Amino acid sequence: MTVLVRPSPLPDPKVRSFDMLIGGKWTAGQEGRVIERTAPSHGMVVSRYRAGTAADAERAISAAREAFDNGQWPRMTAAERSRILLKAADLISARADELAYLDAIEAGKPITQVKGEIAGAVDIWRYAAALARDLHGESYNTLGDGTLGVVLREAIGVVSIITPWNFPFLIVSQKLPFALAAGCTTVVKPSELTSGSTLVLGDILIEAGVPAGVVNILVGTGPEVGAPMTSHPDVDMVSFTGSTGVGRLTMANAAQTLKKVSLELGGKNPQIVFPDADLDAFVDAAVFGAYFNAGECCNAGSRLILHKSIASDLVARIAELSKQVKVGDPLDPTTQVGAIITPQHLEKVTGYVADAAKSGATITLGGQPLDFGIGQYMAPTILSDLSPEMPVARDEVFGPVLSVLTFETIEEAVRIANAVDYGLSAAVWSRDFDTCITIGRRARAGTVWVNTFMDGASELPFGGYNQSGLGRELGRHAVEDYTETKTLNMHIGDRTA
Ligand code: NAD
Repeated sequence: MTVLVRPSPLPDPKVRSFDMLIGGKWTAGQEGRVIERTAPSHGMVVSRYRAGTAADAERAISAAREAFDNGQWPRMTAAERSRILLKAADLISARADELAYLDAIEAGKPITQVKGEIAGAVDIWRYAAALARDLHGESYNTLGDGTLGVVLREAIGVVSIITPWNFPFLIVSQKLPFALAAGCTTVVKPSELTSGSTLVLGDILIEAGVPAGVVNILVGTGPEVGAPMTSHPDVDMVSFTGSTGVGRLTMANAAQTLKKVSLELGGKNPQIVFPDADLDAFVDAAVFGAYFNAGECCNAGSRLILHKSIASDLVARIAELSKQVKVGDPLDPTTQVGAIITPQHLEKVTGYVADAAKSGATITLGGQPLDFGIGQYMAPTILSDLSPEMPVARDEVFGPVLSVLTFETIEEAVRIANAVDYGLSAAVWSRDFDTCITIGRRARAGTVWVNTFMDGASELPFGGYNQSGLGRELGRHAVEDYTETKTLNMHIGDRTA
């Protein structure tokens, strides 16, 4: 049986209240409405955010526009911007415990895991600070006598940044420091379920020296506040992370004024396993990949594609190890799997499991919610005897649910791996070099892990093929994404000579 870490009601929920940040000032917004956030782990209100309206979005966009058109941020030296980003990184590090608590309690994520995410975010802010100083254009003195071609790299302008609830602080940190490094100004909207840590970031950036209007932070629902951020003519680029459905809507809205879009969307990521692999290492990776962040992870290794000859043995080993995973109170430092984000989302996850069972799948482990009397939790679940066409094996379930499929030939493995709408990441497990390279080349995914799973680094680009997104984050080109090139084609000397 799963190891349970029972949550008890919070003796003092320490409810925090937050305003929005517009034009350098904290504000209750036009209507002063409040969104209350109930902790998914404890069922108690833990945060109150002021919620914006379309009029607040308008004010925030206009503050960002003014800061871009007439403010100092895009005009200061890259060295100065870099210094401010480094200061921000230090302040994030100093407030890591506060940020980690907010993400853990608002999203139901295990506190030990979130501390790792905040440390990762600090590294990203430092990396962006370094890249800021290396942003440069090109020059061509080879275009003929009397001609000089210069390619400038300029900040793209005002960027709307919209983020989801599953990695609140990490994801804003994959976007904002690079946009700032390029000299852009921004309007940021975190998920209305997990806005706390992004609002604390606003405070940090003011202290670090980011001028008024450069970072504006709105809270609110997607249709009310997010939509104007994607269609407003004064916004030059939209950087969005979230579901594929809302990503599609975002792109359509942005198309009204032909804005650049960067989209980081869903995934249904396969781990393909051959009999010659290090199976001990794979079993660990299978359990980690399936249940990390309660499976509420775009990169979740939610599809195992196992060679038929080893499948039943591996499933038994994965089930055994899954029973040792600690599920429950995200504030307990030993917890590995926390709560499910909302009761509605838990219903969606259990609905997928029930449908699969009705269609003949075997529930090898779990399959049910865990009832602690407070909050909402799901048992680690393994489904076998599936066909690749079943919804649970194709859709992003976004819960701790592992779908097991089998293959006999490498061609079949590749076909099954690529036969979904997504293409975020994939993994191959084998000791054979040719097998690894073949899968590495043929998998339609933005990242392919070879004999490992879910490793990342600030230096490595991340993003999706197919309907997992458009563009890449992180890596050395991340700052360039927030720029335009401009050609200066110059004539030198007397034209009449
Ligand atoms: P979501 O699409 O429901 O919401 C994401 C953000 O978009 C939220 O801030 C939301 O308020 C906003 N939004 C909603 N409707 C909008 C609209 N009409 N216009 C503008 N903004 C709108 O996603 P979610 O449920 O918060 O997050 C889970 C999804 O995010 C999953 O699909 C997951 O795979 C994806 N995700 C992808 C990555 C990645 O890097 N590829 C990372 C994390 C999460």
